[in-house]
Amino acid sequence: MNNNSADIIIIGAGASGLMAAYTAAKYSCAKVILLEKNNQIGKKLLITGKGRCNLTNNCSVDEFLNNVCTNRKFLMSAINSFSPQKTIAFFEELGLALKTERGKRVFPISDSARDVVQTLKNAIKKENISLRLNSNVVSVQHNTANTFSVKLETGEELYCNRLIIATGGKSYPQTGSTGSGFTFAKKLGHKLIAPHPSLVPIVTQESWCRELQGLSLRNVRLTLYKNQIKKPLFSEIGELLFTHFGLSGPLVLTASAFVGNSPPSEYKIAIDLKPGLENKQLNTRLVRDLAGNNKDLCNALKKLLPLRLVPIIIQLAQIDPRKKANQVTSLQRAQLIETIKNLTLTPQCLRGFNEAIITAGGINTNEVNPKTMESKLVAGLYFAGELLDLDALTGGFNLQIAFSTGYAAGLHCAQQYKNLTT
Ligand SMILES: Cc1cc2nc3c(=O)[nH]c(=O)nc-3n(C[C@H](O)[C@H](O)[C@H](O)COP(=O)(O)OP(=O)(O)OC[C@H]3O[C@@H](n4cnc5c(N)ncnc54)[C@H](O)[C@@H]3O)c2cc1C
Repeated sequence: MNNNSADIIIIGAGASGLMAAYTAAKYSCAKVILLEKNNQIGKKLLITGKGRCNLTNNCSVDEFLNNVCTNRKFLMSAINSFSPQKTIAFFEELGLALKTERGKRVFPISDSARDVVQTLKNAIKKENISLRLNSNVVSVQHNTANTFSVKLETGEELYCNRLIIATGGKSYPQTGSTGSGFTFAKKLGHKLIAPHPSLVPIVTQESWCRELQGLSLRNVRLTLYKNQIKKPLFSEIGELLFTHFGLSGPLVLTASAFVGNSPPSEYKIAIDLKPGLENKQLNTRLVRDLAGNNKDLCNALKKLLPLRLVPIIIQLAQIDPRKKANQVTSLQRAQLIETIKNLTLTPQCLRGFNEAIITAGGINTNEVNPKTMESKLVAGLYFAGELLDLDALTGGFNLQIAFSTGYAAGLHCAQQYKNLTT
């Protein structure tokens, strides 16, 4: 076999491609080539978890699947075969010490994503995988003899019997994930569910939001509704941030995953600024703060709400800001309570791929074998990671999806190679 051909080629040295390459080489003696367009592996991995890399979630398979937004059933087999606990054992056996934090989120003890990448780098080196950096794949072709040709930007052509496409989605394109895998998959006959940004900030219609730019709120409840449907799609307590375009922060990113493909304006966001107080308790508190207080209402609310929020709340409650606190009527108090407990915003759109933690949508999983990640349309072709129509919430679930699907694809390639050669 010459330098331009291999038994197995993997395109993309991100989380899923690295796992696929390692597994394929570890469980067979096949010649494996790993192609990466960047001059380094795992560029996106380096920025995960704010540079700390939340590499999985130490939960049961059932809990895991509850955090998957799209195609849970498809993932069952891959997650059962390579569970979060297997990911933990995998990294620890390779010498990376891990810790579990709040919400069962797993990080390296060093708090350094660089160590995760270095561990994977050492692993693929040990398995004698031929890693080719600066190798941007521009096209792939399925040949009549059941082989694949992979063409690089330089014009060089490589050949293989099994091809794993692990090129990621379209989010944070500066890391290398520009969606080229979608083009390759389409050319090979696969259908796409329109890729769209997810775990992404939300642009809101209300202009008052912009006045609060930079204000971060903790322990507030965000509830997301669709149209007139009473039952919320999402409701959780956490942290959010006002920005020049609308809303960001952990709660908002999670809520964005529940905004499907329908126009964002069909949704409503309600923020409860005081989720720990029932309406009645809040009323008692307001009566205490306002009665007998001859200061401006603005001043009287400073203890209850962040300073910058006070004039906005008074304005939205349609009360004159110069009104003295002790002159606020019971009706106006009710308006204040309604505004504080149910601050309503209308999404205008989601921010784009540049700011999205993940890409939802992607290769239609109906056309992929869930046990092996092999294409049902083209034998010998595999997909792994974020380019599949799979996505989950934050907490280490998306990297686990990349590892589990990468493992499934790599293992099946190894098994097929062994069947052919024995
Ligand atoms: C800011 C940020 C923070 C995140 N934090 C977390 C976290 O803490 N925990 C978590 O679980 N998830 C996190 N995620 C999501 C997670 O990083 C991804 O889901 C995961 O990296 C997907 O892995 P992948 O292998 O499918 O794709 P990628 O990691 O995107 O890797 C794809 C690779 O393919 C290469 N490539 C693409 N096209 C070509 C081509 N034509 N030729 C050659 N190479 C190509 C790319 O350069 C890239 O290296 C985060 C994402 C972002 C953006």
